[in-house]
Amino acid sequence: MPIADRYDVVVVGGGLAGLAAANSAAQLGLRVVVLEAGSDERYLCNSRYTLGFLHVALNATTSAAEQLRKAVETATDGDVRPDLVNAFAGNVGRAVAWLGELGVRYIKGGPLPWMNRLLAPPALRRPGLHWEGRAGDVMLRKLGQRLKDAGGELKLGTRARQLAMDNGRCVGVEAVSNGQTVRFSAGAVVLADGGFQANADYVRKYISPRPEKLCIRNAATGVGDGLTMAEAVGARLSGLNRFYGHIQCYEALSNDKLWPYPILDLLATAAIVVDRHGKRFADEGLGGVYMTNAIAALDEPDTAVVIFDDAIWNGTGREYILPPNPNAVEAGATLISHPDLGSLAQALGLPATELQASVDAYNDFVQNCAAIAPPRSNRAAKPQPIVKPPFHALRVCAGITYTMGGVAIDGGARVLDLSDRPIPGLYAAGSTTGGLEGGGPAGYAGGLSKALTLGLLAGESAAKEIDALKS
Ligand SMILES: Cc1cc2nc3c(=O)[nH]c(=O)nc-3n(C[C@H](O)[C@H](O)[C@H](O)COP(=O)(O)OP(=O)(O)OC[C@H]3O[C@@H](n4cnc5c(N)ncnc54)[C@H](O)[C@@H]3O)c2cc1C
Repeated sequence: MPIADRYDVVVVGGGLAGLAAANSAAQLGLRVVVLEAGSDERYLCNSRYTLGFLHVALNATTSAAEQLRKAVETATDGDVRPDLVNAFAGNVGRAVAWLGELGVRYIKGGPLPWMNRLLAPPALRRPGLHWEGRAGDVMLRKLGQRLKDAGGELKLGTRARQLAMDNGRCVGVEAVSNGQTVRFSAGAVVLADGGFQANADYVRKYISPRPEKLCIRNAATGVGDGLTMAEAVGARLSGLNRFYGHIQCYEALSNDKLWPYPILDLLATAAIVVDRHGKRFADEGLGGVYMTNAIAALDEPDTAVVIFDDAIWNGTGREYILPPNPNAVEAGATLISHPDLGSLAQALGLPATELQASVDAYNDFVQNCAAIAPPRSNRAAKPQPIVKPPFHALRVCAGITYTMGGVAIDGGARVLDLSDRPIPGLYAAGSTTGGLEGGGPAGYAGGLSKALTLGLLAGESAAKEIDALKS
């Protein structure tokens, strides 16, 4: 097998997490190479597709660390690793400033405090995907250039397949480039391959019985190689059943104008979502990301329907970034409207008595505080009654953006073994990792801030370990 030069640090994946790790290690004087599976100069990844808001659980990254720690713990019901959340909350402000020093520009992206750091130039607010020359695309090109300036390398078309181990220590990576397996030896390896959302077998195993019925709301480059490689050398995996994503129109499964935006989260969580039996199946009040997970977990995930009334359609339906009213309909989604619930059910092919009973029970809950099953909270969204005709429906599907769980790491981004001990020489960052997001409510910490902060920490921790080895 051909052997490449020896490096201090080999990074797997050239998204934000990988390039942050590589730049931080290179700034600290290490010899670094990034292996990137994509072969195009503008290789696809979630960091290139991103909308570009840097936040922590919908809090400004400039907030106090204690506020950010609490925000992540609240969003996840505390189902996270305390040392990891502390490290994330304590370093995210520094990481965002560091990215700015590397030349990545931000603008204020909206009126809410968490919108104060949006990658510039901002992505276009238009249905469909528009990344060229914007937000993540510009950021990645800047980070690639900075890495080169600092003496680092980015090897395109090079897919890592296996970790090389020596006496329990990770000492490199075997990767396939141009059909040939090449060995990259290193003092440390950082896994930053972006999650497993595009691996149908893993998604079926951990997230949804029907992965083919989910909208691939991502770059389809996260195929779980990091998870596979880490598990093979004894790494612990954490929180694999949760993902970050949004409720998309059903037609997004076949119409590219309908993903990644517009999304239906606000509409769905102001009203109700029913299954093919006309019944509610989850607490819409826990928010759009939670409901997206609940839809994905249905035995037939492409059969869920959002039911709402005209007041909701013309109120909440017109709110937020690229609202569904009118954008979803203009881009090709079918809004089904009828003067009464019976004819709406008939048009949808749902049992009319069940749908009527679901809406009646929900209205009784909203208007009279009656008990309701499954329970309905107002944690992320206030329930609104479904009373004003015409009544409307949109068929929906679950859009999967990235997996929240993955390889277990500690606060220094060190990969942990089954006994919770760091595996020497092995680090992970970004969507490869688990332990910072998810839990019962599928709490979202922030994909970009997670990738950036854990990438920076991985590079710094690897540099420290290599320094210690050299001295
Ligand atoms: C449409 C969209 C909008 C988003 N908007 C936001 C937002 O506004 N705010 C926010 O916080 N988050 C947002 N996110 C999420 C955020 O962009 C991601 O969480 C983040 O960019 C992930 O970075 P990463 O480096 O972990 O993964 P990626 O950026 O996906 O990078 C992983 C890289 O690893 C490479 N790779 C995979 N396997 C291998 C292998 N075996 N060998 C070598 N290379 C490999 C892939 O090709 C890829 O280039 C959005 C995502 C999408 C898709």
